[in-house]
Amino acid sequence: MELREIPIEGYERVLQCHDGPSGLQAIIAIHDTTSGPALGGLRMWPYTTRHHALRDALRLARGMTYQSAVAETGFGGGKAVVLGDAQRDKTTCLLRAMGRCVDRLDGQYITAEDVGTSVEDMLVVRQETPYVVGLPRAMGSSGDPAPFTALGVFLGLRTCVEWALHTTDLRGIRVAVQGCGNVASHLCKHLHQAGARLIVTDVVPAKAQRLAQQYGARLVAPEEMYALPCEVYAPCALGGTLNDHTIPRLQCQIVAGSANNQCLWEEHGDHLRQRGIVYAPDFVMNAGGLLNVAMELTPAGYNEARVLERVRHIATTVRTVLATAAHEGISTHRAAIRLAEQKLATVRQAKVYGPAGSETPGEVSVGGARVRHRRRSTPASASTQRRQLQYSEDVLRQSEGEHGLGGEEEGMRAFPNFGNIRDNATAFHLAMDVIEHGHVAWGRAVLARLREHLQTTHDIKSVQWILPDVEAALQRFSCDEQHEMR
Ligand code: NAD
Repeated sequence: MELREIPIEGYERVLQCHDGPSGLQAIIAIHDTTSGPALGGLRMWPYTTRHHALRDALRLARGMTYQSAVAETGFGGGKAVVLGDAQRDKTTCLLRAMGRCVDRLDGQYITAEDVGTSVEDMLVVRQETPYVVGLPRAMGSSGDPAPFTALGVFLGLRTCVEWALHTTDLRGIRVAVQGCGNVASHLCKHLHQAGARLIVTDVVPAKAQRLAQQYGARLVAPEEMYALPCEVYAPCALGGTLNDHTIPRLQCQIVAGSANNQCLWEEHGDHLRQRGIVYAPDFVMNAGGLLNVAMELTPAGYNEARVLERVRHIATTVRTVLATAAHEGISTHRAAIRLAEQKLATVRQAKVYGPAGSETPGEVSVGGARVRHRRRSTPASASTQRRQLQYSEDVLRQSEGEHGLGGEEEGMRAFPNFGNIRDNATAFHLAMDVIEHGHVAWGRAVLARLREHLQTTHDIKSVQWILPDVEAALQRFSCDEQHEMR
């Protein structure tokens, strides 16, 4: 097993993990441990290149720092991502190898479930390390965090409805839920009970169909989501869905969901504000699950009643953020980041002048071991973050080159992993993503190959749901090019 440090400005530690026998390829990013050890989930996703995985890990780890700071959990921010398809590549060997990587960090990073991993998977990780939370309730642990995340999102969403539409009554309110996974399932239950009219989608059609049947929801194709006339758009899939392509198409009044890193960049929060759309910042809304697992690590141990009390407080925090943004004339996204940074500054100051009580801030007991953070970093500005991401991609490309894994060429070969609707949707989003980040020729080549594949495939859903978007994107770029030539 090999752990390689990748030096990235603004991050305390970033590690590239590799284990030959199990095939594990992963990244652990520790963003900030000012408040305590970095706590954040373990994601498994079929990233097509390692720099996509790295970028995701960096963005998610930073989001966890903010989420923890605002929710005052006493933990720092970190995240781990495993490259691979959770349905196909997840094995006991791979999870155990990941557990050994986490263990090598001696508690600086504590892991939990996330997209692509489950409570059962955490049990396997636990065979190798004590630094894991969110294990089954029967073991005295906190169990699945998703119901708590969903409750916080539901309460925050209702606060936004009250703010924007001046009612707490959700009857008849149209909520378009993107992604029908763990959190969305619980969220839909709350919304249905409150009388909301649900619209659902997922790149795995069976998941969307299940929720549609259960709650009488309207089923739509993934790409229809953005232009749907509705009161609330609830992103509960992956991040980056609020971007230059989607924001102009939105027809909702509120964006309130569980997905991490919904705004591709900070300025997308400004774009939402300019469009008069009320945005509930993700890391404020989705802290319920974190509060649940963090409670496990308190000296008094897990207590569900106390978790629920803290999750209910999310509605108050959302209201504070909405009011601050309105008062200061800034986006809610910026208001939330400001709140997180203020809270982190307070913790830093308390450390300089000494804690009020005898307890050392940031020191907790995990699996019987005392754990303390080691290093600190200062929060980075938006422009620094952009530089960091670019830098991280460069570093990774260089290291891939050193290992003979190739850089962009290799990515191009790995990219067109077309097949079922999920692979095709992933390829489409990644192509748009690389175009967004300046690799226009590369992204367009992928789109062209994807179009070729979709024109001959027998997968009717891929043809209906993805082909029109691929064609629209290619057409748009060709129009842009003609415009530039003129
Ligand atoms: P999940 O994997 O159970 O669900 C995600 C769903 O989104 C899957 O069904 C997937 O097929 C679908 N999806 C992916 N891309 C899509 C697209 N483009 N369009 C439509 N559907 C798409 O994950 P989850 O645990 O429900 O988490 C959902 C989101 O909430 C993630 O972003 C996660 O990071 C965030 N979150 C989860 C928790 C938690 O407690 N589970 C806590 C905080 C934040």
